[in-house]
Amino acid sequence: MQGEPENIAVTLLEHVDCGVVHLDAAGVVAFVNRKAEEMLQVDRAEVLGRRLDMLPLRTPIYRVLSENSCDGAVEVTINGHIILTRCTTIQGENGSRGELYELRDITEDKKERRQREEFVAMMTHDLKSPLTVIMGYLQALSGEMPNKMDPSLHLLVREMDKSAAKMLSMIDDVLDAYRLEVGLLQIDRHPCDVRGLLEGCCRDGEREAAVHGSYFLSEICEGIPTLILDSKQVGRVFANLIGNAVKFTPRRGTICVNVEMSDGFLQVQVSDTGIGIAPDEVPRIFNKYFRASGAQGFKGTGLGLTISKAIVEAHGGTISVESTAGKGSCFSVLLPLSPDKPAFMR
Ligand code: ADP
Repeated sequence: MQGEPENIAVTLLEHVDCGVVHLDAAGVVAFVNRKAEEMLQVDRAEVLGRRLDMLPLRTPIYRVLSENSCDGAVEVTINGHIILTRCTTIQGENGSRGELYELRDITEDKKERRQREEFVAMMTHDLKSPLTVIMGYLQALSGEMPNKMDPSLHLLVREMDKSAAKMLSMIDDVLDAYRLEVGLLQIDRHPCDVRGLLEGCCRDGEREAAVHGSYFLSEICEGIPTLILDSKQVGRVFANLIGNAVKFTPRRGTICVNVEMSDGFLQVQVSDTGIGIAPDEVPRIFNKYFRASGAQGFKGTGLGLTISKAIVEAHGGTISVESTAGKGSCFSVLLPLSPDKPAFMR
């Protein structure tokens, strides 16, 4: 590309896919690109060379540029369109200062986000609510009215309740995978007793392992401080890893949970002597819907690890796996003890 650098810059700014307006050090409109003309419904010939404060208050260009968008982006509604405005102070070579405004029409993005939120809310209501009602009745049958029920039905009701709970957790996974994709997965951090959380997950894991006929061992170090995290989501990660270890380990196998603190991090390792993962499949194990060839015949959605990775990374942590096909796997979660020190910076 040839020509004066300044001319090239002006040509590039003219063709970028966002509105650009430049006010010089005296507050005079020095540049308006074509996109900004469209967004602000203004003819640049009418405003170039004029001071911003001399423009009529009600004009879109005045309304958008008079907002203080230097400290952070600001949304301004212009004739039904939402314009996101961000201002950067620029320093010229001769010491002159000016302001460069970047404008984006985010009306469609906002509409899509609202539609996604409505979709999640609708799915949550339409899929989960009936199931919750069914589970409520099943629990009432097995809990509050056991005498009114033929004893031979107790086992059936318990199995129905277990299947409904499994279906509920699969719906949660599908919904969370969708939330993740559209940026709606929420992390609500609060002070958390991680040791208590891990002990609870291990108790559930031990029960599950006993049903499967496997051994379960756990070793949790002393002195884990209170961590600021989303206990529900992080608990879900541990439960998923332990649940997988139990699921993919044949009878008489062993599942170990080992928790240590080192170098400012909490390390949670869940290892098993199960079916393992083939080396060429390990790199894809955290992909959405991915299930290794060895997982055929085991129930699942292939979403648990994707969601777990997103949750761990949202806490500044990392998750990794080492596995040998036919011998077993070890999943490691690293969480920073202080939220200011993300694990991937190590
Ligand atoms: P799901 O367990 O529902 O299939 P996940 O996302 O939790 O989904 O796991 C994805 C895949 O990773 C599993 O289908 C399985 O192939 C593999 N996997 C996960 N954990 C283990 C494990 N402990 N041992 C062997 N394979 C595993």
